[in-house]
Amino acid sequence: MPAAASERRGVRGWLVEASDAVVSVFFPAGCRICDKLLTGASRVPICSECLDSFPAPPDKKCEVCGQSIACMTSTEDQALVCRACQQKMYAFERARSYGIYEGPLVQAILLLKWERMEPLGAWFAGRLAEMALRESQSMAADIVVPVPLHRDRERSRGYNQAGLISKPLARELGLPHKAVLLIRTRPRPPKQVLTLEERWESVRGAFATRPGSQVDKKRVLLVDDVMTTGATLDACARALLESGAKSVLGLTIARAARNTLPDPDSGNL
Ligand SMILES: [Zn+2]
Ligand SMILES: [Zn+2]
Repeated sequence: MPAAASERRGVRGWLVEASDAVVSVFFPAGCRICDKLLTGASRVPICSECLDSFPAPPDKKCEVCGQSIACMTSTEDQALVCRACQQKMYAFERARSYGIYEGPLVQAILLLKWERMEPLGAWFAGRLAEMALRESQSMAADIVVPVPLHRDRERSRGYNQAGLISKPLARELGLPHKAVLLIRTRPRPPKQVLTLEERWESVRGAFATRPGSQVDKKRVLLVDDVMTTGATLDACARALLESGAKSVLGLTIARAARNTLPDPDSGNL
């Protein structure tokens, strides 16, 4: 190689290396979803395009549980309520989610869940706070409570992922955060994939409030990462209401894409 070319490459190589070093000091890696180099000053390790691409819940959803009910129609003066909520299936008063559990939002939640990504938890908390404030009448609460893990599970993981969202959310809303008010008394079954019935069965009566905890007449904002069937939020809500809570609202980052309840309209109920 001629000396000049080698020198050019050397300089360019050095520049690339130097700029990589500068970037790596501030932003040690690319976007954890698309791998694009992160250029903002945010501590959230996901680029703005990926953050903007999270699938939003449908406009046409159940007033109560927030589940998509695209197939149902309502008149102007009648609230849109799904069949399960017409039958008062859930103990919580209302549930809302920031997005649909698919695509990049699944990846983001897995990062939060398995890598204890606190800045990402705070980012999601910000979005949930915006939602709660937008619907300030129906989402008003007195305390914020994370859906708990069983003691053994939390000990082995080292943290509760729901707490990574609920704590900054409580701070944003100016409400007390009650991380130890609710406990999971029965662990989740070791099987990874649960059927619909197994999901409901595995959480029924699996939660309780800690003896002596103050929940009387409180409106509880219950926080979790994902709502799948609503069974977990329902079981937590029942435990809180039994202990005297006035009402329970559920707020999650995401919810299952499809209505995982038996669909009454398909004749499978
Ligand atoms: Zn990205
Ligand atoms: Zn509903």
